[in-house]
Amino acid sequence: MNIHEYQAKELFDKFAVPSPQGKVAGTPEEAEAAAKAIGSDTLVIKAQVHAGGRGKGAFKNGFQGGVHLIKSTAAARDIAAKMLGETLVTKQTGEDGKLVSKVMVADAVDISHEYYLAILLDRETSRPVIVASTEGGMDIEEVAEKTPEKIIREFINPLIGIQPFEIRKITAGLGFGKEEGKQFGKLLRNLYRLFIECDCSMVEINPLVTTPDGQVLALDAKFGFDDNALYRHPEIVAYRDTDEEDPREVAASEYDLNYIGLDGNIACLVNGAGLAMATMDIIKHHGGDPANFLDVGGSVTREGAIEAFRIILSDDKVKGVLVNIFGGIAKCDTIAEALIAAAKEVGFQV
Ligand code: ADP
Ligand code: MG
Repeated sequence: MNIHEYQAKELFDKFAVPSPQGKVAGTPEEAEAAAKAIGSDTLVIKAQVHAGGRGKGAFKNGFQGGVHLIKSTAAARDIAAKMLGETLVTKQTGEDGKLVSKVMVADAVDISHEYYLAILLDRETSRPVIVASTEGGMDIEEVAEKTPEKIIREFINPLIGIQPFEIRKITAGLGFGKEEGKQFGKLLRNLYRLFIECDCSMVEINPLVTTPDGQVLALDAKFGFDDNALYRHPEIVAYRDTDEEDPREVAASEYDLNYIGLDGNIACLVNGAGLAMATMDIIKHHGGDPANFLDVGGSVTREGAIEAFRIILSDDKVKGVLVNIFGGIAKCDTIAEALIAAAKEVGFQV
C-alpha cells in the first residue's frame, strides 16, 4: 500500500522527522486558506498523487509541472484551480496519468543542497538497507547507473537495529559538517524507527535538503507498506486512497482474491500462487498472453469466485478464460457452481 505526501508528513511529524509545514487542500479556496494559515512569503504547491516525478510532469490540459513555487495566497488559489480535477502525467504514472483531487501547500525552504535518503528491504540479505547519496533531487536510477560510487548502502541488522557507528558512517559518507551531521543523525534514527514500527517496505526522501540556516529537512516522501502487516496498523489503512489503485484490484481485495491486471487477452482463474504462475507460463509458452494473475486461494467462497469471474470479465481485452483449479485445496464444486452462476449473470459461454 502507498500513501500521499501529505499523509506521509503526518507520520514524519509523529516520528520527529523534520519537514516544512504543509496543509492539504481539495479546492482552490482551501488552497488559498492553507497558504494564508502557513503565512510565509514563499510557498510551494504540490499535486498529490501516488507517483514521483511531479515536478517535471505535465497535465493533460497543457499546464506544466505538478510542483510550483508561489509568492502569494492568490497564486495558491489560481494554481490549485489548474491542478485539481486534472490529470497529471509523470515518468512514474504511465501515459494514462493520475487524476489530482488534492494539492498540498507547504512552506518553501531555501535549499543549500539536495540529498537522497531511503530505507528499503533488501531481499538478498533479508535486511533493511539504508541508501543515501549526495546526488538527490534527480533520478536516483540514473545516478546508480552512471555514478554508482555516489550511492552509499548500509545494511542494518534488524535484531539490534541501527547502531551509532552506522549512522556516523552514513553521515560522513554524505559529507555533513558537525551541526548538520547531528541533525541528520537524529533524523535518520527517527526515520528508521518509523520504518520498523509502521512495517514499511520502503521510505524514500528525495530530496532531503540542507538550508542556509543549517536545518536538515525532508522535502518529499514516498512510502510503501507491507500489505501483510496492515492488519496491525488501522491508522495506516485509514490513509488508503482506492482512487489511486486499479479498480479491479480494489474489488479483488474485498474478497481476499490475489489479483494483478496484465496486458494480454487470456484471463486465468487459478488457485495457489505457484499454479497461477505456472499457468501464465504455459499460456506464454504456447504463444498467448495472460490478461491477469488471479489466485483465488484455497478457501474461496461461491460469492468470491463469482466476483473473480466478474472482475476478469470486466476487462475489455479478455477474449477467453482459462480456469485451472487444483482440487486438493479448493472445492471444485464451489468453482463449478460459480462458473455457471457467473455465466448466467455476466452472459458468457462455458
Ligand atoms: P517530485 O519528486 O514528485 O518531482 P518533489 O517533492 O521532490 O516532487 O519536488 C520537486 C522539487 O521541488 C524538489 O526536488 C525541490 O527542489 C522542490 N521542492 C519541493 N518541495 C519544496 C519546498 N517545500 N520548498 C522548496 N522547494 C521544494
Ligand atoms: Mg521528489
